[in-house]
Amino acid sequence: MSKLEKTPKIRNNFHTHVQRCRHAQGSEEDYIEEALLKGLSQLGFSDHGPYPGDPFGRRMPYGELGDYLETLDRLKEKYRGRLTIWKGLEVEYLPQYRDYYEELFTKWKLDYLLLGAHFYVDSEGNTANIYEVSTSTQEYLAYAKTLAEGMRTGLFRAVAHPDLYMLNHFAWDENCKRAADLILDTAVATDTILEYNANGFRWEKQSYPEGIRHPYPYDGFWKMAAGAPVRVMVGSDCHGPGFLWDEAVERSYRNLESLGIEPVRELFTEGKTQ
Ligand SMILES: [Zn+2]
Ligand SMILES: [Zn+2]
Repeated sequence: MSKLEKTPKIRNNFHTHVQRCRHAQGSEEDYIEEALLKGLSQLGFSDHGPYPGDPFGRRMPYGELGDYLETLDRLKEKYRGRLTIWKGLEVEYLPQYRDYYEELFTKWKLDYLLLGAHFYVDSEGNTANIYEVSTSTQEYLAYAKTLAEGMRTGLFRAVAHPDLYMLNHFAWDENCKRAADLILDTAVATDTILEYNANGFRWEKQSYPEGIRHPYPYDGFWKMAAGAPVRVMVGSDCHGPGFLWDEAVERSYRNLESLGIEPVRELFTEGKTQ
């Protein structure tokens, strides 16, 4: 697509948290009011998805899932004609929960799932946390394999922050590139959107082997993405209504433009249908 052909500046966001995860602020309706103020056309809610029995922290309790979805159904009706609202969740891809993910569509009638992997299946087959990789970048291959396996299930419309592994304090090396290759190739093969995550710009800059930078998005990853026929979308990943469409989001669009990537702005009308 020519860089001169400007797409109309449609404002949509499909990566939105609410207070239910206990580390974001604001109710569903607070974000809707903010979306109307900022001129958004579509708003997708993707709070941190609950798991039966609540085995993981920092996410919605399982007991609130029904209320979350009923609230969104009610608000969809209330704001019909003013804002298109979608019901989603951001979840891990852990293979033992495959049936549960299916159930989120069949029983709970979710519109979409975002694959936001903070956990992955490590090289020894255990559940590990990407924030805690301290030995070597070798583990990134296992992280990428978990993402790839998740994408191949067809359960996920988009992968949130696919370059999250670059938050660790290692230099960009062959393992980082091989992980990026596997994620990009699988996204293309499965027609899964990769998200350029604005929330990384809201984190403090930190000292890395190549200098001071935000933990993600990571340029090296997105330069590789620019050379692949992959669909990319900006996600706000806002944890407070004031962040829904802020400087971090604007900066994300500018960065993609300078990388020569034209982001998609629709999660539902282009490409695959669920
Ligand atoms: Zn969060
Ligand atoms: Zn998120």
